[in-house]
Amino acid sequence: MIKQIAAAFVLVSVFCVLAMAQAPANSKPETAKTVDRLPGLDKQLIDATADPCIDFFQYACGNFSKLYPIPNDRSAYGTGSMIADYTEHVLHTMLEKAAAGGAGRTPNEQKIGDSYAACMDVETINQKGLTPLQMELDRITAIKSKGELPELLARFQLIGVGAFLSFGEQQDFKDARKQIALLDQGGLGLPERDYYFRSGAAAEKTRAQYVQHIANMFKLTGELEKKAVSDAEAIMQLETALAKVSMDITSRRDPNKIYHLMPVSELATLAPGVAWDRFLAASGAPRVSELNVANPDFVKGLNSVLASTDLETIKTYLRWQLILSTPGDVLPKALDDERFDFYGRKLRGQPEQRARWKRCVQATDGALGEALGQVYVAQEFSPANKQATLQMVQDIEAAMDQDIDTLDWMSAATKVKAKEKLHAVADKIGYPDHWRDYSSLVITRDDAFGNNLRATAFESRRQLEKIGKPVDRGEWGMSPPTVNAYYDPSMNDINFPAGILQPPLYDSHASDASNYGHIGGVVGHELTHGFDDEGRQFDAYGNLADWWTAEDGKRFDEKADCEVKEYSNFVAVDDVKVNGKLTLGENTADNGGLRLAYIAFLADAKRKNIDLAQKQDGYTPLQQFFLGYGQSWCGSTRPQQLRLQVQTDPHSPRQFRVDGVVQNMPEFGQAFGCKVGQPMMPVNACRVW
Ligand SMILES: [Zn+2]
Repeated sequence: MIKQIAAAFVLVSVFCVLAMAQAPANSKPETAKTVDRLPGLDKQLIDATADPCIDFFQYACGNFSKLYPIPNDRSAYGTGSMIADYTEHVLHTMLEKAAAGGAGRTPNEQKIGDSYAACMDVETINQKGLTPLQMELDRITAIKSKGELPELLARFQLIGVGAFLSFGEQQDFKDARKQIALLDQGGLGLPERDYYFRSGAAAEKTRAQYVQHIANMFKLTGELEKKAVSDAEAIMQLETALAKVSMDITSRRDPNKIYHLMPVSELATLAPGVAWDRFLAASGAPRVSELNVANPDFVKGLNSVLASTDLETIKTYLRWQLILSTPGDVLPKALDDERFDFYGRKLRGQPEQRARWKRCVQATDGALGEALGQVYVAQEFSPANKQATLQMVQDIEAAMDQDIDTLDWMSAATKVKAKEKLHAVADKIGYPDHWRDYSSLVITRDDAFGNNLRATAFESRRQLEKIGKPVDRGEWGMSPPTVNAYYDPSMNDINFPAGILQPPLYDSHASDASNYGHIGGVVGHELTHGFDDEGRQFDAYGNLADWWTAEDGKRFDEKADCEVKEYSNFVAVDDVKVNGKLTLGENTADNGGLRLAYIAFLADAKRKNIDLAQKQDGYTPLQQFFLGYGQSWCGSTRPQQLRLQVQTDPHSPRQFRVDGVVQNMPEFGQAFGCKVGQPMMPVNACRVW
């Protein structure tokens, strides 16, 4: 939960898991059609009427939205979404086959096939209605006093119901060899704490829509209008009280602010109203003597909220959290549609639900990612692909080694430590060496709700069982088909799932220049995360420990501040500007990453005797390199989604991931013959790495 992993390519905001897998019960299954992947460098996407020196994103990607407008079942669409579409079709074919297969299936094929089939069986889901929820609703009804809450809250955590708090496991920030228990803030239905307090018409409208949505959901579960409305208002009041004592997302990027290791006995001091010993005993975690209370102020505040709220309101809130945490695709159609209306249509501006089969592919990947992934990589990911990526990763790491040597602002002592960390980075490519064992997870063909509940509990237990055990460094935090990548500071590793290692990001038919711009940029991005404002606070062993001299740390902050200011000036939508502090880590990774890819490409070109003046397809190799990078981010985003992204996502909107970076690289201006002072070649460029 608290893994501070820093992903490259987030297609969906990590903070709004609920709205991710929404789509319709009524849509007809779309038959598998051919979905194209873009070539490495696509000249069709280029808007030749634009000036690359004024707006490079427009130049590199200006025609994308005309050729590929945002489909109605998307809130945004771009290069990454096209790769995801392609992968989705591949997985769809596999799952249809696994679902149709009979007795001869392997245990994993049975699980993924039946998980998919149960999800597709809309008729059975609708027929069952709310019956599957009843057992959990009964547990809430049975509560007779606040004193009985600990066991229920613990069970809810296990089945993914995040009421009041969040409990799980993490690597100890200060001793990465240890896995410890974690108690964190939680319990909100809006995407982030500031959604409860932000002023302005748009924010107020969202809050009103949220309250209406809660009331609508209650009505659909059988409540009368008046009661549903008053219940919704009480929930909003309770969640607002929780939000008040919650930490905002920008602060949460600072690992020191979310690390408070303490003996379990301290919990009684922070929140004496909760019988924590009973909560922990019921949690499924091994017995622990200490834990990380990420946000002690929240736990104190939770104590007050529980004390001042009457039992009936608490029970109403628990019912709401239960419904909220249940994925739409296992709920009956009316609730599923209402859920989508708020989290999809209103919050993201997405006109239509995704087709059922797409949601079921996603749901199966979420529940059984490594079982599905095993079948996926056997078919889609060649050893040659893995080898080529490894070569690229090693080239980029060599580039960083060289880059560190050239930094004029860093002392020799800190450089030694930086290199120590760089050389300790573990490279993980494609898929795990050891596959997760799902044999104890029961998946049946006629029980979508139960499958989801069991898969969620299976994963919660798997996480909790790690507490007190040695760290498994081979573990992956993303499934192999995922079109994304991440750096994990506690592991000090970079991870590239097979899903991201395909055209156009990596294209064996494209020029080296284009590949270095595309996938080289992604690899450089993840590696630089180890050295961004957050990652730099962790050492070679993954420990939160300051390895910088005070002077170098100060210089880093000054350099990073240049990027904070630069990005804070970008207007994303209407009057909403990019949050330069929230996005600093990602922006630093984008900027440093492209520079590393550039250095690596030059080294590769020298090795291969590539003539950098020789144009191919109308572009020099260096121009192709930058076009490759720019075209990684082609696409467009609906205004509602853009607002949500800026307010919750540490990644800058796509056009700034391109223009914000190239304007910091004079090498870009030189490659395109820009004049100093033009927008993409400013006099004062920022540079950290
Ligand atoms: Zn990132």
